[in-house]
Amino acid sequence: MASAALGLGLRAADTFNGGELAGAGLLESNHRGGERYSAFRAFLKPVLHHPNLTVLTGAHVLELLWNGTRAAGVRLRWQGRTLDAPAGGVLLTAGALQTPQLLMLSGVGPRAELSRLNIPVRVALDGVGAGLQDHLAVPVITRSLVPSLDSGPPAAALARYAWNRSGPLSSNVAEAAAFSHARPGLRADEDPDIQFHFGPAYFRDHGFQTAPGAHFSVGPVLVDVHSRGRLTLASRDPLAPPVLDPAYLTDERDRQSLVEGVRQARAIAAAPPLSGLRGAEVLPGEGVRSEAALRAFVAQECATLYHPVGTAALGDGDGAVVDRLLAVRGTQGLWVGDASVMPRIIHANTNATAMMIGARAAGFVAAAL
Ligand SMILES: Cc1cc2nc3c(=O)[nH]c(=O)nc-3n(C[C@H](O)[C@H](O)[C@H](O)COP(=O)(O)OP(=O)(O)OC[C@H]3O[C@@H](n4cnc5c(N)ncnc54)[C@H](O)[C@@H]3O)c2cc1C
Repeated sequence: MASAALGLGLRAADTFNGGELAGAGLLESNHRGGERYSAFRAFLKPVLHHPNLTVLTGAHVLELLWNGTRAAGVRLRWQGRTLDAPAGGVLLTAGALQTPQLLMLSGVGPRAELSRLNIPVRVALDGVGAGLQDHLAVPVITRSLVPSLDSGPPAAALARYAWNRSGPLSSNVAEAAAFSHARPGLRADEDPDIQFHFGPAYFRDHGFQTAPGAHFSVGPVLVDVHSRGRLTLASRDPLAPPVLDPAYLTDERDRQSLVEGVRQARAIAAAPPLSGLRGAEVLPGEGVRSEAALRAFVAQECATLYHPVGTAALGDGDGAVVDRLLAVRGTQGLWVGDASVMPRIIHANTNATAMMIGARAAGFVAAAL
């Protein structure tokens, strides 16, 4: 896809991590030994036996413990028991959906929201749960005239992976990417609004829908997000999931970006060298051409790329939840070190930034305690 995207006028990018987000090329990924390599395996597993570290798996934190407005540990459910784990400070890293839930269950959040569920207000912070943003992906899928990952791996690829865990089966499926300016009126010196993910497979509805034959996908992903949603509590039960209103596409700019992104994805799939490998377009489908039809297609098919952020945002203003050292405002001994703190969603996949936030948070906590 990277070569085909050059036909859109995009330049070739050696890396997307060099400070400038532009062009087409290959993504860097957390890969080792032919498979994805998680933060747990990279950072936690090597120190699991350290004497000052205790790891409880399958534990569910229910709420924070307090000494006034100072965080003094957590209450958790583990192996059928409720335990208190006192601590000199707490670094919350439950992610953008559960960190705000835990804060609210512990009395830190919008006064009206807490009062609605009769949760005593410890620190009123309107920004908790507000500002939710996410990346949306739309499938643009074409039949492939050559074997693809979804048409069954050729025996040679299987043998290669079994031999030394390399080759096509070691792929994370979406290795090629491109960033482009799609929305009419978006200036070239502004950040791109669309990221394309290329996958040699049929990717729709999170992979739950499949189709016979070989395909490739050039999926436009909205990365310049303007819509903002909200997360609230369904109940005081810490085991009940929170209520999400992602407010997808409520800002007209987001819809425009994705409609134009679909048009650009089609152009990439029709440009050499992909043009020589392509069969019929499957999605949106040849008949879906008009502005109205494309808008309806985007609304129908868009899906989360699993990048929620912004529900405990960093900043100096009224809506901010954490300060520049990631400490929760109005409290002591409490920090947030996950994707919740992004004040606005970044213009690319969120994992590396979430890891960096965690690393910085660890440093801030170590310096403070
Ligand atoms: C299917 C999928 C694919 C993705 N692919 C990519 C990708 O290719 N590239 C990329 O850049 N990003 C990708 N992401 C996004 C990336 O994984 C996230 O941005 C990143 O993990 C966010 O990190 P975090 O620390 O904020 O939260 P998380 O990684 O979600 O960590 C939160 C942790 O807290 C735990 N937790 C939550 N509540 C409680 C509680 N009450 N008690 C105890 N533990 C709790 C959760 O179990 C979880 O382990 C993907 C996400 C998903 C879901």
